[in-house]
Amino acid sequence: MWEISGDGTVNLIGSKCLSCGELFFPEQAKNICTHCQSNNLEKIKLDGHGTIMSFTVVEQKPAGGFYFGPVPYAYGWVTLNDGVSIETLFTGCELDELKVGMEVEVVVEKLHDNAEGAEVLTYKCKPVKKQAGGPR
Ligand SMILES: [Zn+2]
Repeated sequence: MWEISGDGTVNLIGSKCLSCGELFFPEQAKNICTHCQSNNLEKIKLDGHGTIMSFTVVEQKPAGGFYFGPVPYAYGWVTLNDGVSIETLFTGCELDELKVGMEVEVVVEKLHDNAEGAEVLTYKCKPVKKQAGGPR
């Protein structure tokens, strides 16, 4: 689902259709392009940077017992620089700082501890902080 390189850069792993060029995330498990029906797909590293397209802030734990992370939390859609849209959680800023159009980078963080006490990791998107001013 993702790879972390030596310098800490996170790359999400997706699929690229070699027939029509369509990108997918997550990887197409059955290796079939849902755009052109080709099975000529290859695994690719996606760009770890993108732009927030939409988001929502969730104040209460969702029903269904499948979410074990903290609340409130923000999730939404980010379009990565190579054009594929991903559904993601957000991290690294106050929830009221999030804005559509913000530049983000993909990071991997703990989501919660599982029943055995082991960390469950997930990818999230973190706003890229612009350097305010130069050295004084
Ligand atoms: Zn295709």
